[in-house]
Amino acid sequence: MIRFDVITIFPEIFRGFVSESLLARGQKKKIIKIALHNLRDWTTDKHKTVDDKPYGGGPGMLLKIEPLYRAVQSLSSKFKVQSSKLRRRIILFSPRGKKFIQADAKRLAKYSQLILICGRYEGVDERVAGYVADEVISIGDYVLNGGEVAAMAVIESVSRMVPMFIAKKESAEKFDHPQYTRPEVFEVKSKKSKEKILWKVPKVLLSGDHKKIKEWREKYG
Ligand code: SAH
Repeated sequence: MIRFDVITIFPEIFRGFVSESLLARGQKKKIIKIALHNLRDWTTDKHKTVDDKPYGGGPGMLLKIEPLYRAVQSLSSKFKVQSSKLRRRIILFSPRGKKFIQADAKRLAKYSQLILICGRYEGVDERVAGYVADEVISIGDYVLNGGEVAAMAVIESVSRMVPMFIAKKESAEKFDHPQYTRPEVFEVKSKKSKEKILWKVPKVLLSGDHKKIKEWREKYG
């Protein structure tokens, strides 16, 4: 069982995501657990302030360290994780982080608890990356509005690497070869010439010749 604790100022973004399909089933079967936490719950002022202006000037606001630190502290102490070597990993999302790849999904799936910190606005006080997080992850060389989409990508890809999450183990981590399903021939009409065009499934896949099919898959996979 792996537990994901997501710290965000927009927990609602995750509601549909965590309650459909494989993630819903995985939670029901107690293979994974996804808990959403509103960062504002760890503020202490009347206005529940989570952000402030950057020192040295510049546009926009940063998420402050105090509520994030308190959130991580409380989520770390609240959930006792197994006493095995790999227990808890605290992850911050940033476009300046290390690029996330399949090997990371596999590696992170061995932990008991992942605490995922979603940035917003212009980002997060750098001390969170420096002192609070165990690692900083980017999901690609582009800038998102917040870490929520990055957290979703990590939750899905890590969950797939948890034993029993995917019924067919072989398909969990495969970068598939091209695949087709019925019909064998799909007919469309050309917009320009009004002629019929046939989009066909490669013949070899219909041949029943397993050796040839395997070769074809290796070639195009
Ligand atoms: N100016 C900031 C970008 C802020 S984007 C900077 O250079 O770091 C706001 C938040 O979205 C970030 O704090 C981060 O949590 C998230 N984010 C944006 N792009 C991301 C990416 N490619 N991978 C992971 N998280 C990202």
